[in-house]
Amino acid sequence: MAKLKILEFPDPRLRKKAVPVEKVDAALGTLIDDMFETMYAAPGIGLAATQVDVHRRFLVADVSSEKNEPWVLINPVILERDGVEVSEEGCLSVPGYYESVERAEQVRVRFQNRDGEEVEASFDGLLAVCIQHEIDHLDGKLFVDYLSEAKRQRIRKRLLKDRKHRVEDRVAAV
Ligand code: ZN
Repeated sequence: MAKLKILEFPDPRLRKKAVPVEKVDAALGTLIDDMFETMYAAPGIGLAATQVDVHRRFLVADVSSEKNEPWVLINPVILERDGVEVSEEGCLSVPGYYESVERAEQVRVRFQNRDGEEVEASFDGLLAVCIQHEIDHLDGKLFVDYLSEAKRQRIRKRLLKDRKHRVEDRVAAV
């Protein structure tokens, strides 16, 4: 297994729309394992392929505190949305920022699991929020898109500045 590099906002690659996965094969399985390793190490509760610069429609998630309830959703499609929930969201691609976002409280999703079988399942609570957030990534959308333009620009500037400092620190340390 290998840890993958997570793209960070405002990287334009986060805006690419992912294409459907055509074949659930061993190579995809390896990528899924690497994404779980990357997500758990971050640490995070969800990771979409887009975030590791793979523009195909699949995501991994695990919102359990024991980190033993992994979900793999390949080619996910939201069939139904129910209720409204506002919760604080963060994102591994927007490190250090947490903002309130409104989502459906419950979603019914059709997807393929890692064996390539077609599954329909309902999700609620944190897992429902997480899955909606990750499916947005596959469409090139980020949680900061739900915020005001001014707030999004502020986060963008701050992250670019932080990254520049990080690069300068690294140069200084050599
Ligand atoms: Zn995210």
